[in-house]
Amino acid sequence: MKDLPTAVLPDHITGFLADGAWHQPRGWLDIVAPAEAQPYGRIAACGQAEVDRAVASAQAALDGDWGRTAPAERGRLLSKAGLMVAARAEELAQLESRDTGKPIAQARADMVACARYYEYYGGAADKVHGHQIPYLNGHYATTEHIPLGVTAHIIPWNYPAQMFPRSVGPALAMGNAVIMKPAEDACSVPLVLADILLEAGFPPGAINMVTGLGAEAGAALSNHPGVNFISFIGSTETGGLVQQAAARNHIGCTMELGGKSAQIVFADADPALTVPTVVGAITQHAGQTCSAGSRLLIERSAMDTLLPLIAEAFSKVRVVMPWMEGELGPVVNARQKARVEGYQKLAEEDGLPIMAAGQMSPELSEDGYFVQPRMYGPVPADHRLACEEVFGPVLAVIPFDTEAEAVAIAESVQYGLTAGIWTRNGARALRIGRQMRVGQVFVNCYGAGGGIELPFGGMKKSGFGREKGWDALLEFSALRTLVMRHD
Ligand code: NAD
Repeated sequence: MKDLPTAVLPDHITGFLADGAWHQPRGWLDIVAPAEAQPYGRIAACGQAEVDRAVASAQAALDGDWGRTAPAERGRLLSKAGLMVAARAEELAQLESRDTGKPIAQARADMVACARYYEYYGGAADKVHGHQIPYLNGHYATTEHIPLGVTAHIIPWNYPAQMFPRSVGPALAMGNAVIMKPAEDACSVPLVLADILLEAGFPPGAINMVTGLGAEAGAALSNHPGVNFISFIGSTETGGLVQQAAARNHIGCTMELGGKSAQIVFADADPALTVPTVVGAITQHAGQTCSAGSRLLIERSAMDTLLPLIAEAFSKVRVVMPWMEGELGPVVNARQKARVEGYQKLAEEDGLPIMAAGQMSPELSEDGYFVQPRMYGPVPADHRLACEEVFGPVLAVIPFDTEAEAVAIAESVQYGLTAGIWTRNGARALRIGRQMRVGQVFVNCYGAGGGIELPFGGMKKSGFGREKGWDALLEFSALRTLVMRHD
């Protein structure tokens, strides 16, 4: 083992953030590095009192300097934050890799995306305008996009460095005061990102942050009557609880939830494009990606041609310590490891053949949360492995004979996040793509989590509302119509 990780949070970033400063909470939680399975720091265990303070801070900001900050200045602040992230990218990537267990190369890519989110929304802040509406004689009618107020942002542990700017970027661009609640398993980089926003010059209270357990900090935040909107990214189950809280307070929310995305591969697909991308789409960050391509629907006539190439590439995937070169590191915690291995056990008890398995580096630590990537097939389309979100490096291969059957299988699950279609037949790709009840369709490419400019979100149990791209700005604002009579 070389270059053992030493990245830790800077000393001054401790506790929770409100009124532009870090405060001491009443309790603390250990943070554990997944590859080391050892605590290496601590985060604030926030509850009702800390959340009350954060909400009051956000409300005061809206009534104060932040509420009077012009859109162009909001954009400048975000753009500056993007440059600051870019300047500290390596330090942040080292911390992210240690905190989440993802290979350092992926963590570096996350920092590029993080800076780009700020660049994108920084540039957009002063370009969202309403319309003048032709109306009655003697009347002048316009619309404008106004902030929602205090927005709560609850994010998961898989890509915190991307989720943080993706969620607060458009909200700050539109003039909301934000409260970020990262997942208890991955807070380190979000804490530094919040501090960077302060350093960039956002006025006190524009950005606030509480950490802690979902059932405590997350529940206190989503139930708080002072919150005006909730942006939630996480599991379908927790999303249901957050929606109930939003309903009780009569506020809006966006839900980015789970997925079971299909890669539909036809025999005429280009192997050079298809093979690495299909494998990468399920092994990236150990399959802990909401838009992981966890179902491989393959035309039966490609079972002897393309499929062996995919299996061969899958068997070359390496599970490594995060600071080594390889495709995936550990999963995030012991619970997640048990969950993924539980699905593998189920597959094997039900006699599903293993078509390929990834390589476990001999240098893996004994205690880290590592699981072997496995590709099973053929899997019946109604088997749990083909329908449920595993959130691990497990690929279910499902053969199909006709285009109609491929569509029916792809659409048979309760999720609707993304889909990939692989074929040289353009008309067929378009025909199938337009039948997919998902938020994003990719043809001969796949952007698991990629594309800051591309609206992203789900249908069915994958959620509703759109993040990323221009449309996210509209989610974080309300349309106000103003009519004036002048005759
Ligand atoms: P999770 O739902 O357990 O946790 C997500 C967040 O919700 C965390 O910050 C957690 O602390 C908080 N939380 C937990 N209980 C809460 C409660 N009662 N009230 C309020 N907040 C609460 O999800 P996870 O295990 O961290 O993440 C994995 C899930 O997230 C997967 O299902 C994955 O598909 C989904 N996900 C979706 C997207 C997307 O954009 N669609 C992106 C990433 C992950």
